[in-house]
Amino acid sequence: MKLKEVLDKTIQFFKDKNIESARLDAELLLAHGLKLQRIQLYLKFDQPLSDVELATCRDLVRRRVQGEPVAYILGTKEFFGYNFQVNSAVLIPRPETEHIIEEVMKWSPNENGEYAIVDLGTGSGCIGLTLLKKLPQAKLVAVDMSEKALEVAKANAAALEVADRVQFVLSDAGDTDRVLAAVKDFMGTPKIDILVSNPPYIAADDKDVEENVKKFEPESALFAPENGLKFLVDWSKKYAPFLNPEAIMLMEMGMSQGPAMKKSYESLGVFQTVDIIKDLAGLDRVIRGVKNG
Ligand code: GLN
Repeated sequence: MKLKEVLDKTIQFFKDKNIESARLDAELLLAHGLKLQRIQLYLKFDQPLSDVELATCRDLVRRRVQGEPVAYILGTKEFFGYNFQVNSAVLIPRPETEHIIEEVMKWSPNENGEYAIVDLGTGSGCIGLTLLKKLPQAKLVAVDMSEKALEVAKANAAALEVADRVQFVLSDAGDTDRVLAAVKDFMGTPKIDILVSNPPYIAADDKDVEENVKKFEPESALFAPENGLKFLVDWSKKYAPFLNPEAIMLMEMGMSQGPAMKKSYESLGVFQTVDIIKDLAGLDRVIRGVKNG
């Protein structure tokens, strides 16, 4: 069978299975299976596929129709223009999480500031490591309770050539003693300039979570007790006393958690301003607290 024929059949198959981005997924998977760039597919339409190539592609297509996300099949996902290695031990980076990066860049008075960054529940490392790329003099303490997640984050730090500016801490993010000891050790001061987190924030009984998210992504990265608010509230409270005078604290949250988190951040009494940042769909997505002197 020629490549064009295989691509067309795959697209149709995905459409029949109600996969939304049928063409994109088919192109990404076939390119991956054939070790080509996506654009090269179009230059090789008439190339016949060998039995081995067909078998490889068939296997990738089968995984997709069973619901596995493309990012896990490819082992990579782009976030803020950088490629992140991913596997089933980490949450797949989401575009809405990029708002955290944008907010830090808006806040940052100085691109060359020697900021102390802490990323709680770093997963793939997408938030903290992207900030290190954007802020070349900053240092990061990246915390996760999953050893397997930290392995992924470490690989990403190496690939992004920022490994010398990260300290990874295998710990419950709520264990401030351990995290702050690492901050002091690595940054020379126990105070934080930029605290970022995309904690688990989905309520256990949330009916809107996609089946395949639940089936393939790590449960511990998704769900939180107390209507999803537990880690947002706990972590912001625990780390607020350790923020530097002009610090920023940004956490991703669920679309219905804005009012509760605004109140919660305000009650900490350390922020001059507390704001809800909306995502591109117009939904409440990030809570931002900024100190000021
Ligand atoms: N910090 C990672 C991300 O934003 C992981 C978040 C998580 O596992 N809840 O993708």
